[in-house]
Amino acid sequence: MVGHIPLEDVILVRIQVPQPKNIMAFAINIFNNLINTLMVHSLITAEYIWLDGQKPTAKLRSKTKVIKGPVSQVSEIPMWGFDGSSTEQAEGHFSDCMLKPVYFITDPINKAPNILVMCEVLNADGTPHPSNTRHVLAQVAEKYKEHDAWFGIEQEYTLYRKDRPLGWPDHGFPSPQGRYYCGVGFDEVHGRPLVEAHLKACLEAGLLISGINAEVMPAQWEFQVGPLNPLDVGDQLWLARWLLYRLGEEHQVYAKLDPKPISGDWNGAGGHTNFSIKSMREDGGMEVINKACEKLKQFHKQHIRVYGADNDKRLTGKHETCSINDFRYGVSDRGASIRIPMAAANAGKGYLEDRRPAANLDPYQICTALIETTCGDGFDSDKYHWSNFEPKA
Ligand code: ADP
Ligand code: MN
Ligand code: MN
Ligand code: MN
Repeated sequence: MVGHIPLEDVILVRIQVPQPKNIMAFAINIFNNLINTLMVHSLITAEYIWLDGQKPTAKLRSKTKVIKGPVSQVSEIPMWGFDGSSTEQAEGHFSDCMLKPVYFITDPINKAPNILVMCEVLNADGTPHPSNTRHVLAQVAEKYKEHDAWFGIEQEYTLYRKDRPLGWPDHGFPSPQGRYYCGVGFDEVHGRPLVEAHLKACLEAGLLISGINAEVMPAQWEFQVGPLNPLDVGDQLWLARWLLYRLGEEHQVYAKLDPKPISGDWNGAGGHTNFSIKSMREDGGMEVINKACEKLKQFHKQHIRVYGADNDKRLTGKHETCSINDFRYGVSDRGASIRIPMAAANAGKGYLEDRRPAANLDPYQICTALIETTCGDGFDSDKYHWSNFEPKA
């Protein structure tokens, strides 16, 4: 029938050609539109995001600066400051701290060209603030860069509304664990609208999220970041956490990174850290992986000191964990401290999974510890005055 459609029905868009007397007005209109476009694009919002000085676990803070945009390199983003006395980073009488932009992504909530900016905190004199764990990792990553370390972090978290895990009854407990992991259905999973909005936002922002899944305890979820180099995995994990909290505001739900939010027969929340260096990924890599495990055994206590507050409540030896007082490694062993994935064992090369870090881990500290132990002489948390958990002697 196409041949019979009258021509006037096919022309869907009529081009408005200005009459001669309106040409001037037409030109002015185009000019004004152009100026408006340029004006809008010359001012953008940059959300400056940083870690505060709270102990034992740092918390994210952020504030908005209107800057000239669009931005194509981090060096174009200006330094800024904040009141360190409100974030446990300075005394009231000398309270200024500096924010040094180190990494940025598209702001998936306010959309391009607006941006989210990860910052390091500096003292007023420009030296790194003691809470600035990223600065330490930057030096360690540079020192061992020929090893080409990759990290993939599995971030588990628990969604809450009004002090109860999302979807849990006001009193008592849901039916026991068993059917919730990777579940589907209103009786099994809670919070998927937020979880999926978060995944989409992360991807739109350019974060390398490799997957998401519902976890063993109802209202518990996981996303994975990586594999990425040490600084990128740290920056991206912190930004992905910020987006989760920020989007939660819109769903009236908040995420907790508590390693053991509900005591008893309920799984805790971890931050399994998958790690490899170049020689592990090449032929003969399994020997390197085994050597790394032996070295990690030697430095177990030092690692545990930076693997998250309250991690002893999670690493009990139950619920797919190894006791915090033991160190074991094994192929495909989810009750070990370090699991060598089956695929790596079969291929004879690949990566290892450190299952000890808690959900409230600071990725800058975890990456520092893993690189120094496997590529260097070992990790000493005292060297950096780092400790968020004190293991028994
Ligand atoms: P699990 O089976 O423990 O739930 P996941 O699929 O949740 O594992 O997470 C595995 C993680 O390992 C992903 O973040 C992935 O990017 C990361 N990973 C894959 N290969 C490597 C590698 N060679 N080095 C470091 N991390 C890796
Ligand atoms: Mn996982
Ligand atoms: Mn998991
Ligand atoms: Mn895992």
